[in-house]
Amino acid sequence: MEKRIFLLFSVILAMTTAATSTENIARYDHYRVYFVELATEEHVKVFQKLEEISDSCTFYGHARQPGQKLHVMVAAARLADFDDLLVTYKVNYEILTNNFQEKIDLQSKDVMPKDVDPSTFNWDKYFHLETINSWMENLAKSHKELTSVDMGPSYQGIPIKGVKLARNASNPTIFIESGIHAREWIAPSAATFIINELLNNEKWKTFAENYNWIVFPVVNPDGYKYTFESDRMWRKNRNLFGISRGVDLNRNYPYHWNEIGCSDDPSRYDFCGTSGGSEVETQRLMKFVQDHKESDNIRTYIALHSFSQLIMFPYGFTAEKADNYDDLKEIGEKAAATIKRISGQTYKSGSLYETIYPSSGGSKDWAHGVLNIPITYTFELRGPANSPDLFILPADQIKETCEEAFGAILTIVEEADKKGYYK
Ligand SMILES: [Zn+2]
Repeated sequence: MEKRIFLLFSVILAMTTAATSTENIARYDHYRVYFVELATEEHVKVFQKLEEISDSCTFYGHARQPGQKLHVMVAAARLADFDDLLVTYKVNYEILTNNFQEKIDLQSKDVMPKDVDPSTFNWDKYFHLETINSWMENLAKSHKELTSVDMGPSYQGIPIKGVKLARNASNPTIFIESGIHAREWIAPSAATFIINELLNNEKWKTFAENYNWIVFPVVNPDGYKYTFESDRMWRKNRNLFGISRGVDLNRNYPYHWNEIGCSDDPSRYDFCGTSGGSEVETQRLMKFVQDHKESDNIRTYIALHSFSQLIMFPYGFTAEKADNYDDLKEIGEKAAATIKRISGQTYKSGSLYETIYPSSGGSKDWAHGVLNIPITYTFELRGPANSPDLFILPADQIKETCEEAFGAILTIVEEADKKGYYK
């Protein structure tokens, strides 16, 4: 009898273990995050080669030049090899995280279930796409100045939804794009925060009355969904290319497409697509902005990303300065000063090329260079450039990050208006 109970117990245990191990969710147990310093040309070459040949080392940025610092996530099975490489080539490094899965597990406690009541939506937790969309729809139903807008379906047929806040048809419009990179969850949080503040906080009345706002919290819904359901670290859309998936939508815009800081290999995190504007999500956004640019008088284009704490403006593809570089720089620095006042956090401002790394095919270069939208910024929200969390921003920082992003955007609008950009 005792033996039978033991057997039964063993069977149940085996079933439970099997259930866990067959879950199709990516895991990062004992994956280590390194922050390496590329001091010499040799270091640059070593890391370029490593990125080319190893899919056990995930790079966040590419090795480009001596003096650069780089995040590399190393799979558990490669830790010894990687350490050997650092010692052999005398590379200075910091280990930021020993077990990346712990970060993901910790954050997952602050992810609300998919079927949560959308009226409980807030900025202390992270929410599924379904909740964000229901929350926006409910707001549009209860506020006559707010309407639902829809770019059309994504590659997987999910509608790309947003809202338009318009109290006066002749106002200039601020367009906000967010969530183009799936894993940067703080971006949709900030976008929804902006909608809520403009709609419900009397303090911002003049901004809600004198400007119209079009906000799309998640312009890459397939990718965003995938980060909640399958792989927290997914970045691209979900288009299929043989054995690989996904285009980096922020490398896919048809303006100096595929020139720098991107890859033409579908297995890479910054794959730029098969041609400029090849992706359905890119086409949807382009069409929406093109169709509304004149009728809504879109004079400002803001894109929200994480992390690194930067307020960047065009261009990303060249060191050449945008025609209104001086204004963009001055306004960007004022926006950073606003953040300093709000939360004490340090954000830097400059062109994308000079602040983060060169890249082409981004939406803001297209908005500025092709559509001539003069005031165009890309935010990298929290954490700092050497953050051990990468994109896994702890939920207790959501609200402050949203407040600082919103404050900075209001400064941008105020200063741009003073300089006559909305006349
Ligand atoms: Zn991003």
